[in-house]
Amino acid sequence: METDLRSLTLDELQNEMENIGEAKFRAKQIYRWMHVKYANSFDEMTDLSASLRKKLNNRYDICTVKQVKKLVSKEDNTTKYLFELENNYIIESVFMQYSYGNTVCISTQAGCRMGCAFCASTIDGVEKSLTPTEMLTQIYEIEKDKGETVSGVVLMGSGEPLDNYDNVLKFIKILNSKEGKNMGQRHITLSTCGIINKMYDLAEEDLQITLAVSLHAPNDEIRNSIMPISKANPMDKLMEACRFYTDKTKRRITFEYALMKGVNDSPENAKELASKIKGMLCHVNLIPINEVKERNFVKGSSESIKRFEEILLSRGIETTVRRKLGSDIDAACGQLRKRYKDEMI
Ligand code: SAH
Repeated sequence: METDLRSLTLDELQNEMENIGEAKFRAKQIYRWMHVKYANSFDEMTDLSASLRKKLNNRYDICTVKQVKKLVSKEDNTTKYLFELENNYIIESVFMQYSYGNTVCISTQAGCRMGCAFCASTIDGVEKSLTPTEMLTQIYEIEKDKGETVSGVVLMGSGEPLDNYDNVLKFIKILNSKEGKNMGQRHITLSTCGIINKMYDLAEEDLQITLAVSLHAPNDEIRNSIMPISKANPMDKLMEACRFYTDKTKRRITFEYALMKGVNDSPENAKELASKIKGMLCHVNLIPINEVKERNFVKGSSESIKRFEEILLSRGIETTVRRKLGSDIDAACGQLRKRYKDEMI
């Protein structure tokens, strides 16, 4: 396969153009076409000569993702997309409208190998780590389809971003570049299940993105029972890495905590959680668990969620409860993809 120009940073693209004997400024033109005008072919680049377009066509590709299914919520316009990648891999993305702007939740891998017991994306393991293009074009194709600007991105679809580290970093760099979409780093949230050594690497990158850490438990015993990654990445070490990250970046971490009835949602669990994270530069996002057909975890009552929230708040921990969007197109977190794939087999 030919090199996909869209996955290159502007610097790399400039080198590439120089290598084939073209002027450096051509790179900026092409970059704009790919990342601002969302062109999917060289033929659309009308300010390039026909001969240059032909030369590019002969040597390079511009990859994209192809929409194969879309579900629009009548309640709040939340829209779930299934996109197909090359070689028929399927990924899921979600468009969400908030008062402060439109956000897209993108996938970083087709499937996932982290094995969280409550998650649908990991059931069949990981099939592929996405290229920068495959992450970027989820956003581009959604903007085109919706005819609206997307101002925020969360890396919370299928996949573990820190298990696809180099591509994810390049994705952020391209998305944030002023010659490209120019999305502010503060509008990009990277969510991880807590791969400690990669969190230290990320802290050194000097980024202003928001880091979300999927905690989902107040101690190792519970965490080990629902998140296999926890065994090699225990909580005290994870908390140390989080403190290092906030010290280094001065950015607040979000702890995600999916409440599962009888597993991690008791008042004692809330108190233990508060004691573990007290004093940290953080915020807790409580998520009523999305019930997945293949999994046995269920949501607690709204009272139990409220009680959990109040215990954290009363101990000085900033806490929010995630609002559920698009409940009429339910198929929560990766289930749409799973169903689509199962039906194809
Ligand atoms: N691998 C990354 C990002 C993808 S998952 C991570 O683990 O953070 C995004 C978030 O959705 C994570 O917090 C994950 O734990 C959570 N999640 C997965 N399945 C869920 C479910 N059934 N209900 C609620 N949250 C879920």
